[in-house]
Amino acid sequence: MRKIRKLWQNRIVGSAIVCLTLLGGAGCSAAPEKAEATRDFFAMDTFMTLQVYGDRPQNAIDAAVEEIERLDGLLSTEDENSEVGRLNAEGGGSVGEDTLYLLQRSIALTEDTKGAFDITIYPVMKAWGFAGGTYRVPEQTELQELLRHVNAAALVVEEKEYNLQLPEHVQIDFGSIAKGYASQRAVEVLRREGIESAMLNLGGNVALLGTKPDGTGWRIAIQDPKKNGNYLGVVEAKDCFIITSGGYERYFEEDGVIYHHIMDPATGMPARNGLLSVTILSADGTLADGLSTALFVMGPEKATDYWKEHHDLFDMILYTEDGTMYITEGIRESFSSQRPFEVIDYE
Ligand code: ADP
Ligand code: MG
Repeated sequence: MRKIRKLWQNRIVGSAIVCLTLLGGAGCSAAPEKAEATRDFFAMDTFMTLQVYGDRPQNAIDAAVEEIERLDGLLSTEDENSEVGRLNAEGGGSVGEDTLYLLQRSIALTEDTKGAFDITIYPVMKAWGFAGGTYRVPEQTELQELLRHVNAAALVVEEKEYNLQLPEHVQIDFGSIAKGYASQRAVEVLRREGIESAMLNLGGNVALLGTKPDGTGWRIAIQDPKKNGNYLGVVEAKDCFIITSGGYERYFEEDGVIYHHIMDPATGMPARNGLLSVTILSADGTLADGLSTALFVMGPEKATDYWKEHHDLFDMILYTEDGTMYITEGIRESFSSQRPFEVIDYE
């Protein structure tokens, strides 16, 4: 008899939030003329906190929460009444602006990452029990059968008709990208409401609008994947999305082996390519979320090569299984840590 123990799920417990503002950070130094509003709520399977500064922050925060809840209702895979739930159940159908945008970004990212990122991984997620059912370790034959249908290239997106065709057995899951997209949309809503300063934390996915009200950068701590509550370091940033993926965020243990929720589409197994966590910093929230998952799958060498080709789009912090921390050249000045780290150069 196999024994399955559910160790941790940050989506439910909420305390494994990857990035936290340090004490003395947001909220303590608001200029007197800027009012502050904060909101804690649960959406997209995780705890979220929005912190907004401005003339009418309450209205703005209401609008941002509404936008996140709208996207949650649209993109949730487990809700069969959501747009994505309906697409999966019916083998495709009509899609709205948001889903169309996410499909296009996701397919581009699959091509760009040579398949490390693939939203058609959903049937594999289900087999492992990360979606829906109970955690279990599928047989290799079962995984090989499911992998035959994991292929984002098989998606037929009819852009003009706002339609998606899903071949038989193909199902999609925006779990790797939805929170980043939602944070990006929430920031757009806040901007439209006249807000110039805000920090959003969508279950560890951080979005920064402008600077802190006093004009200085936000200071975001990057969690140590090995030690809850400890930090790899602190990055000072503004107008940026800071998104971390790690195998420690959602996993179960069976027979002493840990199985986590980021799958390698090449094997159908939890990715184990040398990384414990990947943090992406980018002005593009959707990209930051997608890449945090994709580069985790790739492992440190391929992630480094990928960054060198795309260093104009993002920076990153890698933490490897052997305990080495790497940061990229673009955040050399803004990253600080008590621990040793290596800087990946542009060349
Ligand atoms: P989190 O959701 O914990 O913030 P990620 O952004 O890394 O972490 O997303 C993980 C989710 O992405 C999984 O729960 C699953 O829904 C989906 N997923 C898993 N592996 C892949 C992959 N290789 N490509 C695309 N999506 C994936
Ligand atoms: Mg992601």
